[in-house]
Amino acid sequence: MSKKIIVAIDGYSSCGKSTMAKAIAKSLGYSYIDTGAMYRAATLHMLNNQIPAANIEAVKSELQHLEIRFKFNPEKQVSETYLNGKNVESEIRTMRVAEQVSNYATIKEIRVAMVSQQQQMGKKKAVVLDGRDIGTVVFPEAELKIFMTASNAIRAQRRFAELKAKGEEITLQEVENNLAERDRIDSTREESPLKQAKDAKVLDNSHLNQTEQLEIALNWANEAINRQ
Ligand code: C5P
Repeated sequence: MSKKIIVAIDGYSSCGKSTMAKAIAKSLGYSYIDTGAMYRAATLHMLNNQIPAANIEAVKSELQHLEIRFKFNPEKQVSETYLNGKNVESEIRTMRVAEQVSNYATIKEIRVAMVSQQQQMGKKKAVVLDGRDIGTVVFPEAELKIFMTASNAIRAQRRFAELKAKGEEITLQEVENNLAERDRIDSTREESPLKQAKDAKVLDNSHLNQTEQLEIALNWANEAINRQ
């Protein structure tokens, strides 16, 4: 039986990390952990309880009332995010959450709680995780690290189409601004800023379709598995 590995995927917002992570997980028969969904769910919880990111003490104490889980939905064949027992999969993808998530994700206590849960979920390996700090902080020993990039225009266009399809009233300019602002906060924050791990393989998918990207990533994954 082949050895199990951890696949860590990091990169800027809307590079197609989650699509890629899900496809790799499916091909290898691994689980997929969407760490961005966890920061989004934590943000939704704070927003619903009117706790601003600036009130660190209140955020810290509210963390004890926060339970984030993933449950597989057999009908849709996807894993969905639950916040304190409620399915929040759609709600965490709205602009209301996107506009605030990077501010909450700078808070050390939130990160410590999320990272420890992620390490717990991935400790048996055979997992693909995507986020901003997976290869640098969550699993620095991951056997395969991928850093995904794509041009700003392409990323904004993709996210715009996604949000439009879900019925959000939004302009391309608003999406561009949100991505730029999240990237800025994510890569300049003090706690675990987004950066490429030294041993990460870079995948620029600006001009690659999903099949082409998956082929490259699966080759890397199989090489990493065979090295074990
Ligand atoms: O991946 P996604 O765009 O859903 O992530 C939403 C936000 O959550 C990011 O912009 C970032 O602020 C935060 N995040 C993070 N660390 C991760 C995953 C996401 O700080 N590992």
